[in-house]
Amino acid sequence: QARRLEGVDKNIWVDFVKLAATYSKVNLGQGFPDFPPPDFLMEAFGRAVSGEMHMLHQYTRAFGHPPLVKILAQLFGKLLGRDLDPMTNVMVTVGAYQALFCCFQAFVDEGDEVIIIEPFFDCYEPMVKMAGGTPVYVPLRPKAPKEGKLMSSADWQLDPAELASKFSEKTKAIVLNSPNNPLGKVFSREELELIADLCVKHDTLCISDEVYEWLVYDGKEHVRIASLPGMWDRTVIIGSAGKTFSVTGWKVGWTMGPNRLLQHLRTVHQNSVYHCATAAQEAVAQGFQRELEHYGKPDSYFVRLPKELQKKRDQLVQSLVAVGMKPIVPEGTYFLVADISKFKSEVPDVPNSDEPYDSRFAKWMVKNKGLAAIPLSAFYCGAHKDNYNSFIRFCFAKVRHVVGPSQLGLANPL
Ligand code: PMP
Ligand code: GLN
Repeated sequence: QARRLEGVDKNIWVDFVKLAATYSKVNLGQGFPDFPPPDFLMEAFGRAVSGEMHMLHQYTRAFGHPPLVKILAQLFGKLLGRDLDPMTNVMVTVGAYQALFCCFQAFVDEGDEVIIIEPFFDCYEPMVKMAGGTPVYVPLRPKAPKEGKLMSSADWQLDPAELASKFSEKTKAIVLNSPNNPLGKVFSREELELIADLCVKHDTLCISDEVYEWLVYDGKEHVRIASLPGMWDRTVIIGSAGKTFSVTGWKVGWTMGPNRLLQHLRTVHQNSVYHCATAAQEAVAQGFQRELEHYGKPDSYFVRLPKELQKKRDQLVQSLVAVGMKPIVPEGTYFLVADISKFKSEVPDVPNSDEPYDSRFAKWMVKNKGLAAIPLSAFYCGAHKDNYNSFIRFCFAKVRHVVGPSQLGLANPL
């Protein structure tokens, strides 16, 4: 076994996907929609694999199928307020996962530090380590909500002095994920300005994972950190068709940024994956073409999907309150984190276990109640898992997304 694999062999998704497949009746665990993608996208995929476009069964350009990079440059150029060159400022990847992997491989050397904001999408940590880097963690810290109010993901904030203390001459990059998985926090312009100022001051890269960019609720705005002063030149933006169009199985993602950074992502990509499935790229390109034509209109998928999901969020919030959990209302994404500390005294516990309480609770819940969710400690580094061990994450991008006594025969406890 190569040294780079030491300590990165565990994977929360492998474990919990298996548990959910075995036991769950209601699966609110892994994040993917279980409703169909929009018709226009499925039709585009059908056309792409039909006989009339048979060349789409063959290789395409390594760094992105031309129609896809062109439409991405056109749409995001508009959103970022700058001209993007489809050939040098955009690269298509096998999902956002591979985009992340390319970034760490391309920029991180032995001894480099990468700042990761906790809680974080779990793969950042092993990917930084496999590149030889050292992750440096900084937590979002919860503030008490107003009397009688539910907590919001906006109540989880960075301490500016603590964040600043993590930057040093060893810092190569910071990973930003807004809207954030798992909390659903949408970073405000002020919060992003704080991060941007530190990046500029310390000449640090920003790897900006924006896969949930369209899933923002209550009229909140998704601010792109690359559009802040001094940031375009040091930011790699990461996106995912899986999240954008509810097609996680297609594994089409992308990176966008200045050529001085993207040229190195191309080196990693051409020497590992080479390119992503042609037909899926063609269908995503057609999906974006349709969205560009309907931009901002009520029948745009980027308008319809968050509207639908906001309703599901609100129903899940109510149903969790009814069974005695304390939901943290997310401003974005299709995830919701709920406080389960009330159950600590009631749910059977294993004494002297090394496993965090939330993980044991989530396993108990899926085995005994048929309800799958993900423990929040999975989104913290090893040293911090026990500080946040009484929360679980639900995904509400599901047809059946409400939990409670009537669905699951859940009586107290839970
Ligand atoms: N980043 C975040 C924050 C995610 O939640 C996901 C979901 N898997 C990814 C990246 C990876 O996306 P993809 O499925 O496109 O590889
Ligand atoms: N991003 C999804 C989630 O957070 C799925 C991740 C995965 O399966 N690796 O649930």
